[in-house]
Amino acid sequence: MQRRDLFRGAPLLLMARRARASSLSGYEQTARRIIDAALTDSGGWAKLEYFCDRIGHRLSGSKALERAVEWAAGEMRREGLENVVTPAVQVPVWVRGAESAWMMEPREARLAMLGLGGSVGTPAEGITAEAVCVENFEELEKLGADRVRGRVVVFNQPWRGYRDTVAYRSQGASRAARLGARAVLVRSVTPAGLRTPHTGALNYSADAPKIPAAAISIEDAMMIDRLCRQGLRVVVKLQMEARTLEEAASANVIGEIAGREKPEEIVVMGGHIDSWDVGQGAHDDASGCAAAWQAVQIVKSLGLRPRRTLRVCLWTNEENGLRGGRAYREWAGDSVRRHVAAIEMDGGAEKLRGFGLTIQGAS
Ligand SMILES: [Zn+2]
Repeated sequence: MQRRDLFRGAPLLLMARRARASSLSGYEQTARRIIDAALTDSGGWAKLEYFCDRIGHRLSGSKALERAVEWAAGEMRREGLENVVTPAVQVPVWVRGAESAWMMEPREARLAMLGLGGSVGTPAEGITAEAVCVENFEELEKLGADRVRGRVVVFNQPWRGYRDTVAYRSQGASRAARLGARAVLVRSVTPAGLRTPHTGALNYSADAPKIPAAAISIEDAMMIDRLCRQGLRVVVKLQMEARTLEEAASANVIGEIAGREKPEEIVVMGGHIDSWDVGQGAHDDASGCAAAWQAVQIVKSLGLRPRRTLRVCLWTNEENGLRGGRAYREWAGDSVRRHVAAIEMDGGAEKLRGFGLTIQGAS
């Protein structure tokens, strides 16, 4: 990927906002300056590098996340952004610990797995049980408690786009637990993975026992499914040390360029500074943080002062709690009515394809 692709979107944010003006012509020259600066700028890339290579993953409750918060606030001040603050946010703390999954019968094979965020762990000796494999919730319900009780349910749901498929990761554990399952293994929610499991959050329902849940690779889920459909007895073993600890202190990071005409009106843009604990959280969402932050920084470095206040916010704890977003709403108080636009980037930093837009009151 070319570096400049990452940040091509930044000036467009400003252009989109300005499209509401009756005439765009007065902005053309300024917009061109911003675009030109963004296309040759490498400051956003440097920020992304720092997040990924110097800090690493930023799971809520980790020291790394708080280092990222401290570093970002310090950099914003050094760059001359105004009103830099780090309002405190209490965040949940989930720890993965050691984990593994094996197929024990009909042959022994290690499965490529990742515990799902928020999952409970297994007993120290693990859970060893016969697997039942389903492709959807209807198949699970049809099996019923008689055939699910005491088993490990393997969800081998085909990929039907993220929104439709993610239900198996978020709800699969509780749906299976209601029928007496001891654990679930969920096919990774992705169209292709080259035997790489994908993590993400699960949501336990209040009316079901909490059972351990892990993602396995697409290939492993398909293999277990093939074996089960041949009528073979498939036994799996799951060991997870996952646990939830006491909540910890974190913070949102906020910096601004105060508006020159309507400083009380706010355009906020940003990404989430936390990440999952595997990988470096580059796409999800250091890139969103870096792009939004650098867009504001470019406006600043060009000596421009927009009519309204331009605010960058790096929200904490999006992945497993959304506490940063909620805390921002509280922190903003009545000023939320004077937010004229809120722009979030959390879709990965690939070539820009467009923006999603929600307009309050629009039908
Ligand atoms: Zn994200």
